[in-house]
Amino acid sequence: MVSLSQVPTPRAASDRAVAEDLDRSDQLAVYRERFVSPDPTLVYLDGNSLGRLPVTTAQRVAEAVTEQWGSGLIRSWEQWIDMAQSIGDEIAAGVLEADPGEVVLSDSTTVNLYKLAAAALDARPDRHVLLTDDDNFPTDSYVFQGLTAARGLELRVIETDLDAGLSTEAVQAAMDEDVALASFSHVAYRSGAIADMVAITGIAHDSGALTLWDLSHSGGSIPVPLRSAGADLAVGCTYKYLCGGPGAPAYLYVRKDRQGELRQPIWGWFGQQDQFAMTGQYDAAPGLARFLVGTPPVLSMIGVREGVAIVAEAGIGALRTKGQALTSYLIDLADEWLTPLGFRLASPRDVERRGSHVTLHHPQAWQICRALIERYDVVPDFRAPDRLRLGPAPLTTSYADVWEGLDRLRRLVESGVHESYPAQRSRVT
Ligand SMILES: *Cc1c(COP(=O)(O)O)cnc(C)c1O
Repeated sequence: MVSLSQVPTPRAASDRAVAEDLDRSDQLAVYRERFVSPDPTLVYLDGNSLGRLPVTTAQRVAEAVTEQWGSGLIRSWEQWIDMAQSIGDEIAAGVLEADPGEVVLSDSTTVNLYKLAAAALDARPDRHVLLTDDDNFPTDSYVFQGLTAARGLELRVIETDLDAGLSTEAVQAAMDEDVALASFSHVAYRSGAIADMVAITGIAHDSGALTLWDLSHSGGSIPVPLRSAGADLAVGCTYKYLCGGPGAPAYLYVRKDRQGELRQPIWGWFGQQDQFAMTGQYDAAPGLARFLVGTPPVLSMIGVREGVAIVAEAGIGALRTKGQALTSYLIDLADEWLTPLGFRLASPRDVERRGSHVTLHHPQAWQICRALIERYDVVPDFRAPDRLRLGPAPLTTSYADVWEGLDRLRRLVESGVHESYPAQRSRVT
């Protein structure tokens, strides 16, 4: 017979040893060493806003500066001229579900939204509606407001629940044959809710509309089923989960069979057929190159290549599995520790509907966010109107980080120290 004293007490989820066990069996744990992390006490829960710096990036950029630029000078363009396409192919193969020749690095996400949305509207001249939702990222909405205002078109905006995210039924209800283009975020920047790309693209196509997806919060963290969905167009950011560095160029995707049919509005020499013939007349390049504009930021592209290589090596499947486990663990801790302190989960509870970040609602989220950064060395971010966004990027975050971050958050709110912070927001949140 086993005496009672020999029976191990069951551990609560909030026992730190649970996090340590999860870290020991985490196959992606080794990737943490591939990133610079000079401050061991920092808990970084913002890899979904600015990914960490890969160890190799500083060296690769330094080599490009001293050797390619410093010594090679203009001769180095031989190496640089096709980088936007080759890194695009690396993103297509390792990050998205797309074919070679469908993805290219170019400009910023915002500029690419403008280029591709304009191209889509031009391709459906008999239709007058651009469909989006009110939970889309602000820059997407602004671009669409500008485009529809300039063209006298209607911007139709679906009302979306801030926590639950875009529903397929709402898209179905708003869709009709006036819609030229439907554009949404794949993962909502605030709640992390995943939109059903396959179903929504199908609904748009059934009524003859084109689709433009913003992948900024999904690319590098969850599978992006562009091919299964038959998605027409997409844009995405490289400085978040792809760890390309601040302001690194974005990528755009155009489905192969749409490339010849679409024309974007900024006719620059990188989109010109036979660019160096320097002819007087614009003649769009036949394939994806027609969506390029001007000279790309070479040094920044080098950072994108390093980040994308690590993401591809870790594998989107493994990153998705860990992202689900990390966010579920985070929610378990929040339920136990933070709900009693006035927090409420503002992300989908269903793991299949949730991307790789978790948002918590609290009326004093702004003050808590400031106090957490300044006094407790935990970096989340604040998202309006009253939410704390926690992004445990699966490539660079441990379970112990999540435990530590939430423990500090709990202690902070218990202490009430955030009450002394001004409610007035600063310029960058
Ligand atoms: C981060 C982000 C952007 C950023 O656009 P920039 O042009 O790089 O400033 C756009 N859309 C979404 C959904 C984002 O999350």
